[in-house]
Amino acid sequence: MNRTSRTSILCPNCRRLVSADEARCPHCGERRPGSRLKNNFLTRHLAESDRLVRTIIIANVAMFCLSLFLNSRMPGLSMNPFHVLSPENRSLLLLGATGTIPIDRFGRLWTLISAVYLHGGLLHIAFNMLALSQLAPVVIREFGGYRAFSIYTLGGVAGYWISYRAGVTFTIGASGAVCAMIGALLYYGLSRGGLYGQALFKQIGAWAVGILLFGFMVPGINNWAHGGGVLAGAALGFFLGYRERRKEGRLHRILGHGCAGLTLVILSYAAASGIYDRLQIGG
Ligand SMILES: [Zn+2]
Repeated sequence: MNRTSRTSILCPNCRRLVSADEARCPHCGERRPGSRLKNNFLTRHLAESDRLVRTIIIANVAMFCLSLFLNSRMPGLSMNPFHVLSPENRSLLLLGATGTIPIDRFGRLWTLISAVYLHGGLLHIAFNMLALSQLAPVVIREFGGYRAFSIYTLGGVAGYWISYRAGVTFTIGASGAVCAMIGALLYYGLSRGGLYGQALFKQIGAWAVGILLFGFMVPGINNWAHGGGVLAGAALGFFLGYRERRKEGRLHRILGHGCAGLTLVILSYAAASGIYDRLQIGG
């Protein structure tokens, strides 16, 4: 029987069980694995695969519910499946939709991050969260949580930045960030090679083709953000490296924390200012 004392924690670096008062992790050599700083709120979410995916999905669902709540009228059921439970553009603008209107007219550069967590309808969010729940665990497995979340965040931002430069006026959705995960996995499969790498490349490639085809068939899809996300994700995968080549180190952890902290602050601000604005007008 393996008895663990109450002071056991998961090493923030290698996620194996260690005693909290250990000076160094006996498995990976991480210094003071039990320190408060190393086991903060963000670390606990970034370092555990299931939890990270779940937290991203919860954030998306919460923002979606809030965007519906901010509607001036009850969201109706529409015959068009893309419009079922659709927030109004005004609600989405308040919560941080991005594009040339929010950035040029309102100076809201931070919407490059918040827009990743907003969706235009039930089908939109369901599709993106389904893709996320399939792809993210693979990215986390091969790159680690800190790098995976950095790829998700920075890839999403890059996709939206490219679509902004291309003149897209108003846009939302996680698909640019999801496409960044696709890009990172395509790079990984190609770079690693072997049976596994090739199989993964083919499988993820099919996802990419599917999403790009979907984007050209359905009007209103931001193909700039999709394409930009794939390219940015591949570049991030290359620069950050993957586990088989390079372990997640200090810089990766700092970057992951930076992305998570910034996202948390921006979403909190967007939600608070959105609710405040709604109460002002509604009351
Ligand atoms: Zn360790």
